[in-house]
Parts: sequence; C-alpha cells; structure tokens
Amino acid sequence: MKQITNHLPTAELQALDAAHHMHPFTADAELAEKGVRIITRASGVTLTDSEGNEILDGMAGLWCVNVGYGREELSRVAARQMNELAFYNTFFQTTHVPAIALAARLAELAPGDLNHVFYAGSGSEANDTNIRLVRRYWEVKGKPDKTIFISRKNAYHGSTMGGGSLGGMAGIHAQGGLPIPGIVHIDQPHWYAEGGDMSPEEFGLERARQLEAKIAELGEDRVAAFIAEPIQGAGGVIVPPSTYWPEIQRICDAHEIVLVADEVITGFGRTGNWFGSQTLGIRPDIMTIAKGLSSGYIPIGGSIVSDEIAATVGAAGDFNHGYTYCGHPVASAVALENLRIIEEEGLIQHVRDVASPYMAEKLSGLSDHPLVGEVKLVGLMGSIALTPHKESRAKFASEEGTVGYRCRERCFANNLVMRHVGDRMVFAPPLVIQPSDIDVMIERAIKSLDETYAEIKAEGLLEAA
Ligand SMILES: *Cc1c(COP(=O)(O)O)cnc(C)c1O
Repeated sequence: MKQITNHLPTAELQALDAAHHMHPFTADAELAEKGVRIITRASGVTLTDSEGNEILDGMAGLWCVNVGYGREELSRVAARQMNELAFYNTFFQTTHVPAIALAARLAELAPGDLNHVFYAGSGSEANDTNIRLVRRYWEVKGKPDKTIFISRKNAYHGSTMGGGSLGGMAGIHAQGGLPIPGIVHIDQPHWYAEGGDMSPEEFGLERARQLEAKIAELGEDRVAAFIAEPIQGAGGVIVPPSTYWPEIQRICDAHEIVLVADEVITGFGRTGNWFGSQTLGIRPDIMTIAKGLSSGYIPIGGSIVSDEIAATVGAAGDFNHGYTYCGHPVASAVALENLRIIEEEGLIQHVRDVASPYMAEKLSGLSDHPLVGEVKLVGLMGSIALTPHKESRAKFASEEGTVGYRCRERCFANNLVMRHVGDRMVFAPPLVIQPSDIDVMIERAIKSLDETYAEIKAEGLLEAA
C-alpha cells in the first residue's frame, strides 16, 4: 500500500478519511461533502493544519492538553518506559512502579480521604467503574437495594453505555435505547437559560432541592449516588449559582448518598486548583479523572476513591471488574511526568494569578457586544452566551445552535478553535497560555463575533424567539 504521510495533498487525505474513517459525534456523509480539516502538528497553544494555517487552540484539544503541545519531557518518559516495561497487567497479584507511583501521587494531591485509585483507560470507562463500584459498596454494606444513580440533564459523563446513561445529553439518549435502567436525571443549575425571574441564588437552591425531592420520591434506601461535574463542561461551561453545591453536599450527607464529582475536565488545574471540588467547596466520595491527567498525550483515566469505600469493597473478596489497561505502565509514567510539569512549572498558580485574571479583564470588554448575553469564566474554562436580546436573555427564533454554529465557523476561519454548545460559545485553552496569546485569542474572538453579528443581521436571523 502507498504510504500515507503529511506530504499528500489535503484533498487526497480528505478523500481517504471520508472513505475509511468513522468520526465520533459526526454525520460522516455531511463531513465528507464539506471536507474534514486535517491537523498535522502542534506546539504550545498553536495547531498547524495541512494547508499551513496556524490556529490558536482555545479548546486544549478536547479540554485536555493542559501543559500545551510538543512537550518532549513526555515523549521521552514514554519511550523510556516502553523500553523498560511496555506492558504488564495489574490483575493477578502483580503491580509495577508507574502504577504505584501515580496512585501515591494522586492520593497526595486529592483532597480529604480520597486515597485510592482504580485505573481506567478514559473518563467514560472510569464512570462505568463508578457505577459498579458504588453498587458493590452498598451490597457489601448490606444495602443491596441502593442501586440508583441520580444525575442531571445536560450533564456529560462519557459515551459508553454507562457513561452515556449517566450523562443527560438528549442527543445521546435519543439513540440506541439509553439510558440504561437505574439512572434518573434531575434539572441542571443553568440559571441563565432556565432561571426565569428567580435570582441565581434562589434558583441554585431550587435546583439542588430537586435532588432531595427525587431521593424522597425514590426512597433513600434505593439511591446509591449522585454524580455531577463541579462545573458542566460539554453542556456549555455552566457555572452553578453559589448556593447550589453547599445544598447538594448537605443533602448527600443527610441521606447517605455517595457523591461522585466528575473531575474529568475540572481536574488538574483547569479551575485554578488541582481539582474543581476544591474551587467549589465540594467534599466528594469519589472523583472521576481523565483528560488533563495526562494532558491528552496518552489515554488514561480513573476513579479516586475514599478510604471508606475502598476499605469496604476491598475487604469483601474479589471486586469482579477491571480493564486490560488498568494502570498501563506507559500511560501511568506519562501521567506522572505530566503532574510533575504542572507542579514544577507552577501552572496552577499561573492559571489563578496570571492567565485567568488577565482573561477575565479582556473578556469584560465583551459584555457590551450586541450579541453577548453573559460571559462566564472560572480558571481557564469559560463560556459566552449569544443572544438577540441581552436584557431578557432571549433565545434566537432560529433553531437552537444555528447562530452558535455560525460563530464557530467564523472562529475557524479566523484561526481560532472555540466550540459552540447550542448558542453558547465555550473555551478552555491550554493552561500554559500567556497574556500575549490571550490578546490574540480575544482579538480573534471579537472579530468572529462581529462577523457573526453582521452575517445574521443581514440574513434576518437576529429575531428573538
Ligand atoms: C470527556 C468527559 C468524560 C468522558 O471521558 P472520555 O475520556 O471521553 O471517555 C467524562 N466526564 C466528563 C466531565 C468529560 O468532560
């Protein structure tokens, strides 16, 4: 077969991609028609595509490349570990140094009594583990009827049968018979879209108390856990009102409900602390981790588990669950090196003291933009709500996502990656982003917003619903 390299013409690569590659969350036929964008290399916060365009990556890949691209420390560690011990399993009374070292380091970093790591290959797998682990925990505790997970609409917890069911994405549930039984969803704390005339604080309490009502409805003896992202990521970077998490915590404590914080995006510096739970004052029993754990350089995920749950399950015989790649030595070694970089380069302080305040200052100019309803930023995850009418927080009359998609296309054309979730723009750049990069990012974002505004105005799309 002919060698396929970066040097082939873009059109030829696109044709091969269309012929053989099924893309996630994509209408492949439509993409084939349009032509896929081919990314060929990256360094720092900048991607290069097959046409030579240099694009500022405002999404850190898929919310994961926390230390930025092109870090040779990570590739060196991977090569060294592959040569020394490329693979061994952790199933049959064996272990290896990378898995030990990473678990010990994560126990050190994680708050409270979260001292035990069950490894997975991704965030989705880790959340599947959480379902089995928590149900096993209650079985061992003599409460086998505590099986139900309560989650939230518009949450994202992955795309496996378990992860996709825990999540509350309508598009995922519409296909293939999800959610699986034993998972129920309450409303999300999305004040901007759903808060109506309530103050954010009132609304936050109202949404948290839906959890208590749902527990009462199902019976406390049947509810195993509540799972949530400290800040919803894929749902649109939804920052809950300040009243929300303290009330959720109170309810979980009062009713013996395991609290799972899905930290797949919010972990490893994204919010200006090691974990989003620290930023939002949450005391979880389990944290789901992936993405920034290895800065996306290699697939790895896991669950960081409390002393109580680990000891209970561990004392009760075999836990019949595991993946071939649990604690994979190369992935563990790379993750450990990634954590070293985050720590030694002071990236969390950089987010908290430099990048996030600078970004906030630059974003404040956007509130006056005619298309912008609200701007949210915590650490280096943020969102911009687009609206035809600021004061009323109105939606567009056009189908939801039409304007957001237009804006994303303008961003792409202006060499900036930002995503849209409906008509909300989201961003989460690499944590190494510098003020000079932020200047470029915001300049391109404003240009894209201006162009979107002009475009939809000319086409009569500025109507409010
Ligand atoms: C991305 C994500 C997941 C799923 O992780 P994968 O590695 O894609 O399986 C789970 N939870 C959250 C909050 C995520 O953002």
